[in-house]
Amino acid sequence: MAILETHGLTKRFGGLTAVDDVDLTVDAGETRAIIGPNGAGKSTFINLVTGLLQPTEGSVTFDGTDITGQEPHEIVQRGVSKSFQTASIFPEMTVRENVQMAAMAAERGSFRFDFLKRRDSFTGVYDTTEEMLRAVELWGDRDTNAASLPYGDKRRLEIGIALASEPDLLFMDEPTAGMSPEETDATVDLVERLQDELGLTIVLVEHDMEIIFRIADRIAVLNRGSVIADATPDEVQGDPDVQEAYLGG
Ligand code: ADP
Ligand code: MG
Repeated sequence: MAILETHGLTKRFGGLTAVDDVDLTVDAGETRAIIGPNGAGKSTFINLVTGLLQPTEGSVTFDGTDITGQEPHEIVQRGVSKSFQTASIFPEMTVRENVQMAAMAAERGSFRFDFLKRRDSFTGVYDTTEEMLRAVELWGDRDTNAASLPYGDKRRLEIGIALASEPDLLFMDEPTAGMSPEETDATVDLVERLQDELGLTIVLVEHDMEIIFRIADRIAVLNRGSVIADATPDEVQGDPDVQEAYLGG
């Protein structure tokens, strides 16, 4: 079943078409990779779907509802979240406070009908905070100041903050960028666990093909704003257009 659909999604910056007439369907529960050369429009696509940018044309449907043009906080409250690099961490707050604040922000005015059932009080916020900190394996560091975490832990805290709104669909834009091999491994394990244990649908942009082949159910390949392939990892690997555009022949 589709959780996300875009139809004719297009973003122009002046004369440049960064995202060009993209029709993409993401099924509930899948891990979808988006790959493509630098400047292909991957981040712009994610920003259009999460409301950080307004499309020039086209539509975005989440869970059967047209969310085109909605504000980012409305889209978060519907159950779509994005892990921002370390930019959304408040360094002077503790690990726990960072996640708790995000949980409280997401709770206000939730559009979801199951909201009363799931989080009807501060107890809900505290439970969510603990659950998400445990999921990203930072519960033991909950009273540490965010500023003093090592880089890989900061990136995991970012993911914890994104999870605090209890999303159904999580976007990750280059989650392993700048990580050591050990931090990268831990992050890949985490993505796999999030999908297995929380039943999340995950859409991630990632350059490392080894990681993609390990975790992606399907891969969409963007080139100059257009989807040039949308298939399983094996099919994408054998696709001559993809080889030419991305994998270097
Ligand atoms: P990717 O994430 O695939 O590397 P981006 O989505 O960041 O690509 O960028 C796609 C294209 O849009 C690039 O040519 C980039 O320079 C351009 N672009 C992205 N954001 C803006 C912006 N805010 N204003 C103008 N051009 C932009
Ligand atoms: Mg990008």
